[in-house]
Amino acid sequence: MELQMVDLKSQYGRIREEINREIQQVLDSAAFVNGPKVKEFAGHLAEYCGVRHVIPCGNGTDALQIALMSLGLQPGDEVIVPAFTYVASAEVIGLLGYTPVMVDVDERSFNVTIDNIRKALSPKTKAIIPVHLFGQSCDMAPILDFAKEHGLYVIEDNAQSIGAVYSFSDGRKKRTGTLGHIGCTSFFPSKNLGCYGDGGALMTDDDELAERIRMTANHGQRVKYHHAVLGCNSRLDTLQAAVLDVKLKYLDEYNEARHAAAQYYTKQLKDIPGIRTPEEMPFSTHVYHQYTLQVLDGKRDALKKYLAEAGIPSMIYYPLPLQQQEAFKEITRQAEDLKVSERLAASVLSLPMHTELTNEQQNDVIEAIRSFYKTR
Ligand SMILES: *Cc1c(COP(=O)(O)O)cnc(C)c1O
Repeated sequence: MELQMVDLKSQYGRIREEINREIQQVLDSAAFVNGPKVKEFAGHLAEYCGVRHVIPCGNGTDALQIALMSLGLQPGDEVIVPAFTYVASAEVIGLLGYTPVMVDVDERSFNVTIDNIRKALSPKTKAIIPVHLFGQSCDMAPILDFAKEHGLYVIEDNAQSIGAVYSFSDGRKKRTGTLGHIGCTSFFPSKNLGCYGDGGALMTDDDELAERIRMTANHGQRVKYHHAVLGCNSRLDTLQAAVLDVKLKYLDEYNEARHAAAQYYTKQLKDIPGIRTPEEMPFSTHVYHQYTLQVLDGKRDALKKYLAEAGIPSMIYYPLPLQQQEAFKEITRQAEDLKVSERLAASVLSLPMHTELTNEQQNDVIEAIRSFYKTR
């Protein structure tokens, strides 16, 4: 199989019969919207994550938007979000008329830390959106304490880390997405738990929030045709729920395969002086949504080009930190200089990472990187 960033074809090949059977059942039932599979999958995911409520929705961006809508914030309220993340984490804040307050990240973990967040607090701060980027959890215990002390909501953007486990210092463990008030995730095909189209979900342990979330995702109605608040229409298709219910059974296996591939990369690459391999934080497992190098000395673009010429794909997640995006310039409050995010945007390079990656394929990547550094 050709080397790709993500190989969904081979993954499907291994579960083809099971998936096809489930899809056929949905087709035969013709229950395309809100079919029984949606509830079944939500129940299974809640059980897997160890959370009371899972509310499926149309995609990960909707999940974030619905989460914010269910909190009852006022225009001009501030929401703290990392500058180094996918646009969706911050986009929804601006879209609803709130102010995204961007904070820097830690260059070892790519994630926000309590020190970054502390600098951003103002009397208008109402919520924090920690993003568990690339597959590992932010250090949540101090963030949760800080939020409690200041009466802030915590909405986790868990689109890239489903299945990761956070450890508290007393040994207690919880899955990412279940640590804050609301966890949001995406089932975009390339995510660690991906469907065959768009999908997303919210999770919470809070019964009242769960009720508001369900209502918001369903036109603001609790009783059909009685609309208590303005909501939206965001649903997970039954077909996608059927796919996800099969793939959820393999999530741990998939995440272990990613982790094993990442360890192999790191073992082979960590001695090369010009690159920095990703670090695993002691408080979180790592499910490697991305395997992301930092390429030092301004050589990132040259390395990317060199790899491409050798037939090896690589990607830059993300080439611009959010404070430099046109769409955010007018609406953002910047709490501090965002130097780490800027530096990361100029140095990160993600290598092929998926559940079907073989050591032989990885050797091609590793050899190409080594030969790049031999010629410079
Ligand atoms: C993918 C992703 C989202 C959005 O998910 P969609 O399903 O594509 O809307 C949000 N946040 C992060 C960090 C993501 O990686």
